[in-house]
Parts: sequence; C-alpha cells; structure tokens
Amino acid sequence: MPPSAQERIAEEIKGSRWGHARVSLVVPIGVIVAVAIICVIVAVLSSAQRADEVSFNRQQQLIQRAFANQGARVLQQLNSVAGTPPAVTAIRTDYDAQWVAQHVGNWLETCFGHDGVAVVDGSDQFKFMRFRAAPDAASARVRADLAPSLDLLRGRLTALPGGTLDVLGGQSPQRPGRRTALIQHFLGRPAIVAAVAVGTAADLSAGNGGAPIVFSVQYIDGTMLRQIGNDLQLSDLHEIGTTAHPTGEYVTELVDARDDPIAHFAWTPSPPGREVVMSVLPFIAVALAGFALLVGLVIRHMRHTTRAIAAGESQLRHLALHDPICGLPNRIYFAERLETAICEVRGGGPSAAVFYIDLDHFKDVNDTLGHHIGDELILNVTQRLSRILRGSDLVARLGGDEFAIITTCASDSYSLQAIAGRIIAAVCAPYLINGHNIIIGASIGIAAIDRRARDAADILRYADMALYRAKNEGRNRACIYDAAMDADLSNRKLLEGDLHYAIQNDGLQAAYQPIVNASGDTVIGVEALARWTHPSLGIIPPSQFIPIAEHSGLIVELGEWMLRRACLDGKNWSGVTVAVNVSPLQFRRSDFVEVVERILKETEFDASRLELEITESTLLGNMETAELSMLRLKATGVRFALDDFGTGYSSLLYLRRFPFDKLKIDSSFVRAIEKAPDAAAIVHAVVSLGRGLGMKVTAEGVETAEQHLFLRAAGVHSMQGYRFGRPGPASDFSARLASPRDYRVSNPDQEIALAS
Ligand code: C2E
Ligand code: CA
Ligand code: CA
Repeated sequence: MPPSAQERIAEEIKGSRWGHARVSLVVPIGVIVAVAIICVIVAVLSSAQRADEVSFNRQQQLIQRAFANQGARVLQQLNSVAGTPPAVTAIRTDYDAQWVAQHVGNWLETCFGHDGVAVVDGSDQFKFMRFRAAPDAASARVRADLAPSLDLLRGRLTALPGGTLDVLGGQSPQRPGRRTALIQHFLGRPAIVAAVAVGTAADLSAGNGGAPIVFSVQYIDGTMLRQIGNDLQLSDLHEIGTTAHPTGEYVTELVDARDDPIAHFAWTPSPPGREVVMSVLPFIAVALAGFALLVGLVIRHMRHTTRAIAAGESQLRHLALHDPICGLPNRIYFAERLETAICEVRGGGPSAAVFYIDLDHFKDVNDTLGHHIGDELILNVTQRLSRILRGSDLVARLGGDEFAIITTCASDSYSLQAIAGRIIAAVCAPYLINGHNIIIGASIGIAAIDRRARDAADILRYADMALYRAKNEGRNRACIYDAAMDADLSNRKLLEGDLHYAIQNDGLQAAYQPIVNASGDTVIGVEALARWTHPSLGIIPPSQFIPIAEHSGLIVELGEWMLRRACLDGKNWSGVTVAVNVSPLQFRRSDFVEVVERILKETEFDASRLELEITESTLLGNMETAELSMLRLKATGVRFALDDFGTGYSSLLYLRRFPFDKLKIDSSFVRAIEKAPDAAAIVHAVVSLGRGLGMKVTAEGVETAEQHLFLRAAGVHSMQGYRFGRPGPASDFSARLASPRDYRVSNPDQEIALAS
C-alpha cells in the first residue's frame, strides 16, 4: 500500500476517534461546566438583587420613620412653646399679641428654624400669622393649607382629607387629641404642619372646640433632607417631581390614607448587591479562568490520548498486515488486496495475475548458516523482487520461503512466462551475504485472474496447484494454472485414499534391485523399492505415489511397511546388505529409532545387514536430533547411506558431521558422464572425497558398459543399475542369489571392444 493510504487510514482512525470522544466526553463536560458557571452567576446575581431589594425596603422604612420623627420633633418644639401655662395665659385667657410674636413666632422661627407660625382664636379667627416665604397676598392659601389640621383638631372631620399624612398615626379624626402633625403640601411644597390646641387639661377636657390653636410649619426642604440623609447614611436625598423618575436612583414616596402620593424623594443608592457582586467578581473570574483552563487541559489531554491511540492502532494494523522481517505485506494483507483485485477485474478493470513463488533451498540456508543469514537472504530476495516489478504491483511474503505477487501487467501466457522468467533470473542470481556465496532456486505457480474468478481462496488454490506442478517438473520453473490441474488435484486426492487403503491392506509390494561390486560379478547388496499396482489403474510409479505419500503423511506407514517387508525377505539372503529408503518425515519422528529396533526384533533380522538410505534434506533443520538418532541406530549395527548425493545441498558439512557408511552418487551424474566432461570430474572428486572420509561409494543408475568402466576406474566400490539387474520381486532376487552364474554381467572391457 502506498504510504499516503496508510496515513489516510491513520487520519481516519484519528478523526473518527476524536469525533467520538468529542461527542461522548468533551460536549457533556463542556455543557456541565457551562451550566455550573451559569448557575453560579445566576446565584450571585439573584442574591445580589435580593440584597438590594432588602436594603431598599429597609431604607424606605427608615426614611418613613425619619419623616415621622421630624413631624414629632416639630410638634414637640411647638408644644414646648404653646403648651406652657404662660402660653395659656397669653393666648387663651388674655391674648397678648406681643408675647405671641416674641415667645411663639420668634422663638419657633429663630430657635427651631420653623418656616412659619400662625395662631387662631376659638372662633377660627387668625390672630397671628408669619410665614417666611409667603407674601401677605397668599394668606388665603395659607388658611386653606392650614384647614386640614384646624378641622382635625376641631373635630370637624370624619376622615383625614386627601393629600395629608398623619405623622403621629393612630389619631382618630372623630376624637382628636390636643395636638396634631400632618405632612402635606404647604404653599405648593411638602411640609410638616403641626398644630396644638392651647389650654389647660381642664380647658380641653371637653374637646378643642373654642380653644385657640397654634400652627407651626416646617418645609421638608434641602436642609431637612440632608440631615435625614446624614442620619441614615443616604447620599443625596432630595425631593423630586412626581413624574420624574431619575434612572440609577432609588425613589420612595409619602402617601396619604388613600395611597395617593404626597411627595417623592430620591437618593443615590449604594446597593449592597453590587458590592457583593464586585467583591465576588474577581473570584468568579478566577474560577471561570480555572474552569476554562481545566476544560482546555482536558481537551488537550484527550486530543493527545486520541492521537496516541490512533497512532498505536495504525502501528498495530501495520504490524498485523506486514512481515516483521522484510516489511512486505503478509498473507492477510495479500488476501485483502487479492479480493480487491478480483473485484476490479470483475468490474471491467485490466486483467491481473497472481505469481506464487516458492524458494528452493531457503530452508537449507536457514538451517546450515543460521537464521540471521536466512533473514538477510529474505531481505535480498525482497529487494530483487521489488526492483523488477512495477509500482502498482504488490509483493507479499506469505510464509517462510513463499512469496506472492499480484500484477496487472499482463494476462497472456507468453507475457506471464516472460515475467516469471525475469523473477526466476533475479532470485536465482548468486547472493553474497556475510562472506557466504549463496545460490537458491525458485518455482513459480501462476494463476490468471479473469472475470470468472470467484474469490481470493480460489485464485490462491489455483496458483498453489500450478506451483505444485512447477516443482514436480523440476527446479526454477513456472507453470500457469489450467483447468486440467484441478482434475490432477482431485486425481491425487483419489489416489491418496486408494494408497491409504493399499498400505493398510498389504496392497503394496517390495521390489529388490541388486547392488554389485565394482567389477559387477558379485551381488553384495540389495535395495528395497516400493511398488504399487492399483486395482483399476494398474502400475503406479513411485515417482507418482511417493510424493503423494509424502504430502499426506502416509509415507510414515508406507516406510514402516517396507522396512518390515525388507527385513522379512532379507532374512533369506545371508551375507547380503539390505538397503531401505527412509523418508525425511519418517526419520524426523521422535519414535523412529524405537520403530526400527522393534521391527528388527520382530523380524529377527541382523541389524548389521540393514542399511538405511537417507537424503540430505532429511538432516536439515534438526541436525542434533538427526545425529543422535543415527548414533543410536549405529550402536545396534545399522549402517547409513547418503542417497542421491549431488542433487541436494551437497554440503561437506553433512559428510563430515554425520556418521555415513556409504555415499550414493545420483544417477543424474552417472548419466551425464559420457556427455558432460565436468560430470566426470565431479564423479572423480566425489569418489576421492568419499574414500578420504572412509566411506564406501556406490554409483546408481549404471546402465551402460562405458559408465561401468568409467566408474570402476574412478574407484567406485559398488554399482547399482539396470546393467546389473532391474528391481524385481523377492523371489527373483532369491533365485539370483541361488545361481549367480545365470546372471553374470559381461566384462565391460570386452563388451566395449566388441561394440567398437
Ligand atoms: P532411489 O532411492 O534413488 O531409488 C533408485 C531408483 O532408481 C529406483 O527407482 C530404481 O528403479 C531406479 N533405477 C535403478 N537402476 C536404474 C537404471 O539403471 N536406470 C534408471 N533409469 N533407473 C534406475 P524407483 O523404484 O522408481 O524409485 C524412485 C524413488 O522413489 C526412489 O529413488 C526413492 O527415492 C523412492 N522410493 C522407492 N521406494 C521407496 C520406499 O520404500 N521408501 C521411500 N521413502 N522412498 C522410496
Ligand atoms: Ca535409494
Ligand atoms: Ca538414489
């Protein structure tokens, strides 16, 4: 996948996670914090407002009381001059105008600062009248404004007239006392009008009718309001017009009995609520800042965590989808991409193909040179594969030595084979790793993806079948899947079942091929080879059924059957070594040594006449246990031959480390002797190597006199091949042993001489 796509996935994961976190956490936290803040603000504001209301009500009450106190004061001052015995004498008994002017008028005006004084006699005739601010012409209005208190004291009222407020309170108009104080308008201005009936207690016991009355007026002016303001600590208490309601000021009013306003007063408030708010405000601000900071930190932390989780997730996804050694997409990712490729082809996109690559000898490198070299080799292969492919192609590592490629480059078999050829050439070129010169091979199975392709599993199965075919046909090959392979596979499955049945029911046979001495005249040994005649298909060659048995694990049972059979048959052939083939799967089983020992015991076969043939691949991967098994069996007398030498890894390491008694040169070398001169050199080298290590050397597949002559001259100890006898039933071999003369091989020297 291109990195941009990886990043996109990571971004998407991050985005969706953050979106989710925002909805599930940040939004609720934000809402809770916002609600909490609003609640705190509302609580502070409403308590401030409430405090203001309480304070306003209290100030209103205090002002009302202050006016009442002023009224009481004015009345008391009036009474202090008009309620004395000399006053009774000078006003009631014998009116003394001079005394009144001096002791009432002057006194009240100068000492107490009253604004006006008036005196009426018993018949309501004004005897004295002095008002600072009133011209004489206003005397009619003065009379009118004094009428409420006059009428009240005379008992002429049933209720207080409108526009007046009784300062003393609780005074009943029907039964008036001897004095009264009213707040009312006097000559157009709010004022306290006090009135006292003059007379002794006896004079007034029957009421005020006929008693002279002294009035005193004091305006509710700036001076009085300032004094009240000072007393009550109200700033700028002043009277206002009834209509004007100044903003930012508190207003209270004096009302008459019918709640009609008499006067309005205003003052500049110093509301405690505002002070509370002002004093709490810094703390709220700090708290708000703290909240904001907290929310910010939480959001930042969450963003950070979300990002970390997303990064972790994409890293995990990368790990889950890629090979840890070479960084290539792994099997899971490959399957995903293959599905996508199939969909694209089905949707009309360009046709595509899958290359299934299997490395030959990779395991050998891993096992002999170590895993670090194996890993390094995989990296090298990865680089080479990536280099020969186009950017849009996908290379994946499916397993240990399996790679796969999806390409859209070509679809015809010619182009596919050309690509495969390039891959094989690239992979098979020698590697130099840590000073080791390494050569590996590659087999390739190719499956084309066309519009009929069903799913990834099918395509992989096709490629796998093609790979199987490629491997079967030899190394470094590529095969393209065709429908016949499917039939092949089902055939193999059928054969597998039949083989299983044959092994279980003694349906196999053992054929025996003689092994002769160098001159070819004496049989010194025999190799047991498995044979299977299928009930309906006839003879099935080992090249066909041995791979099936190996693939299915049946080889273990088959091998045991063959070993038992060979031991039983071989008992009759005294002096002859009996060689039995052992498959890697069989040899690697933990109970292999016990099985061999048991069969030897059961069949009472002489262990020293048994030779087990194993190939190099048997030893790969488990060198310690392989060596141990060999040593344990050797201790019982069993001998070991290294089979097919020259075709496998052909490592000197194996020859030196493992206790082989014999080395079997593969028939492919023998066949090549006459054609390829280097094959002859190799055979020479192998023979001297084997001799040098103290091993016997056997040549396999010897068919001609020339081969025999050459091999004998090269120093080979023993021969095996059609020239000395084909594999045949045990009875044939017994017959041969019984009369060796009938089977004499002609002298190769003579034969060659005759032929030329
Ligand atoms: P191998 O172990 O290398 O056996 C020798 C093969 O060479 C045998 O083939 C034999 O018939 C064949 N051969 C012998 N002389 C000549 C000759 O002069 N010319 C030619 N062209 N071929 C010759 P076969 O019997 O077909 O067996 C093939 C392989 O199957 C064996 O190769 C062995 O690897 C495997 N095999 C056979 N029987 C058994 C068995 O019982 N167990 C195991 N594990 N493998 C077996
Ligand atoms: Ca063999
Ligand atoms: Ca062989």
